[in-house]
Amino acid sequence: MILCAAALLSLASGALADEESGSVDELESQYVYTDPWADGYFIVTLDPGHGGKTTGGGASWYGGKYYEEGKLVMKIADYLKEELEQYWHVKVYMTREDNSTAPELIERVQKGVETDSDLVLSLHLNGLNGKKQGACVLVTGGKYDPTPNKNLKSTEEGVGRAILKELHDQIGIKNNGFLYRDSTETRYPNNKWADYYGIIRGGVLNGIPSILVEHCYLDNKKDFELTLNSEAKLKALAKADADALVKYYGLRKDEYGSHRLKDYIDYAREKAWLQGYSNGDFRPDSEVTRATMVSLLRRFGDVPAGDGKAEFSDVPESKWYHDDVSWAASLGIVKGYSSGEFKPDSDITTEQAAVIVREYLYSAGYDTTVTKAAAENTKADTGVEYASAWAREAMAFCIDAGLFKDYSAGALDPGSDATRAQVCVILKNLEDYIANRASVRPEPEPEPEPEPEPSFRIDPNYIPGDEIIVIPWGTTK
Ligand SMILES: [Zn+2]
Repeated sequence: MILCAAALLSLASGALADEESGSVDELESQYVYTDPWADGYFIVTLDPGHGGKTTGGGASWYGGKYYEEGKLVMKIADYLKEELEQYWHVKVYMTREDNSTAPELIERVQKGVETDSDLVLSLHLNGLNGKKQGACVLVTGGKYDPTPNKNLKSTEEGVGRAILKELHDQIGIKNNGFLYRDSTETRYPNNKWADYYGIIRGGVLNGIPSILVEHCYLDNKKDFELTLNSEAKLKALAKADADALVKYYGLRKDEYGSHRLKDYIDYAREKAWLQGYSNGDFRPDSEVTRATMVSLLRRFGDVPAGDGKAEFSDVPESKWYHDDVSWAASLGIVKGYSSGEFKPDSDITTEQAAVIVREYLYSAGYDTTVTKAAAENTKADTGVEYASAWAREAMAFCIDAGLFKDYSAGALDPGSDATRAQVCVILKNLEDYIANRASVRPEPEPEPEPEPEPSFRIDPNYIPGDEIIVIPWGTTK
């Protein structure tokens, strides 16, 4: 098999071949790869091959338009960086930012060293005689390994295998497997022949897994049309690469980094109303159970848990939410179903949340009657229109009170499950409502004190204006 570099060696000058096989040996070993997550981050250096005047392979397609390897892999690298940066605790560095320069091989490896990278991924496109198709990955032959775990080769093969699989499964690129190639000139410190390709060799010398992916053949019409002739296809290549790293390294999306309700989520976490999961996820779009909603409200109000018994057949004392549900039931915040159940594990719907939040405010002394104005204001709101009959008033109240502000990107859907992010919205809006509402519901008029038993009576013949004649009880006149 001949690779892009080698192909160019025969087609063009030897200088480009040197670009991939050239010397990195003067590089002092500064970094030794251990556990990729030891520092809490997966760090990858992306190396778009070639650049500057060293355009890499190339081919003319469609009316003579010339496609250069260096420019295409730059685009793939940009897409790949964008994709990977959506993941949690991932740092992405590039060996070049545009097409203006072609860093030396040693600089490319050095970038991986400087950044404590867990992987150097060199991106290339292959070329031969127009007839060959498919992808292959260049990895170390494993003759030298300075890492404590001696796992450079297995790591490189693991990542390489994952990439080849995704390229095949997602795009249909033929899997040509690994390529190992030894130098015939350079030896490793243990005197064994070094890996031929500079990026691979530099990685080995520094104990960084470093692989070179030949994604497909740029000069093959089928490969070109399958993978390279549109931005969408270049993006798909990057996505396949990214997904392979995601699977191999177990990367997870930072789900709320770009979430519409991120500010609300951040605020709720700051307030410790909701926390993320122990693995760092927040799962903003997951549902919330009825038990959780009640528990959150209690935490929101910082109210001690009730000690009464929840009168629901499906809320046993042994459950973590028992005290929360008892508290809410004792205040009339939740009433459960006519079957006598509370259905604690059911997902709470938007309209159920509206009812519970309104009852919460009522129990805290707020006036939750739906004013005529509120009923008018919310009449045209589809959120109210489509609510269940028992929830319509609560929806109208909550909408009018601003409790659903920002809740929904589009029209409010009362029957939809509330998400964790949306519950953050409700709690924040609830806090604002309470903060801006100095007056609470007027206390009912106290029962008038009973008249004290008089110890005297007034002369029934008394005429106002006259002197009052007090007649002790028990005497008659
Ligand atoms: Zn190349």
